[in-house]
Amino acid sequence: MKIPDIIIAIDGYSSTGKSSLAKKVARKFDFLYLDSGALYRGVTLFAQEEGLISRLGTVNPGLKDALEGLDLHFGAEGKLYMGPRCIEQQIRSMEVSAQVSPVAAVPYVRAWVDEMLHEFGRRGRIVMDGRDIGTAVFPDAQLKIFMTASEEVRAKRRYDELVSKGESPLLEDVVKNLRERDYIDSHRETAPLRRAEDAFELDNSDMTFEEELAWVQGLIQGKFGIL
Ligand code: C5P
Repeated sequence: MKIPDIIIAIDGYSSTGKSSLAKKVARKFDFLYLDSGALYRGVTLFAQEEGLISRLGTVNPGLKDALEGLDLHFGAEGKLYMGPRCIEQQIRSMEVSAQVSPVAAVPYVRAWVDEMLHEFGRRGRIVMDGRDIGTAVFPDAQLKIFMTASEEVRAKRRYDELVSKGESPLLEDVVKNLRERDYIDSHRETAPLRRAEDAFELDNSDMTFEEELAWVQGLIQGKFGIL
């Protein structure tokens, strides 16, 4: 199936399965997949390692200048690198999850990440997931999907993911982190998380992955007239 060179934006709440869906759609249509959240996580890890964020999540203004020397890039299999170091595993930890939303609320951090995202967007044929892709980064994206799911389903998903990576989180900490991130992400001043008016909403609380995929394929077929 051939679809035009477009941008597909997949936004939504934490742990709604955006990246699994985005990756699969990208593979199916031979698009590039880009995980914008990974970049915010990478900046957060950098701020932590440079001592530029307090335990309570207050960001030191020195981060602005420090970002000029930061090299984040995607390597093989879409894994995130900081300079020569693969940081894919570290950025998924609870420590980074706990501080990423305050970092992502800082306007100059968003501008730094947006510049990279726009660079990728220039090539077209891309599926990008995040919180503000369809509203702020690519408001003209040709297909926008907004994902939601019940808190219970999302917490279980995130908990299982952390356990499969060798962490042993408490379920209540996972729930707390999801709530905090969703709250900060939806209430920040710059590019808050919200559904774009022209986004198709997907609540996958009671759907299998195959059903989700069929839903997206149906959408693409309908929108671009492909059989
Ligand atoms: O997608 P993921 O859960 O990995 O994103 C981590 C965090 O990065 C989010 O909770 C949010 O604070 C921030 N983010 C954002 N805008 C995006 C993608 C992620 O603010 N486009």
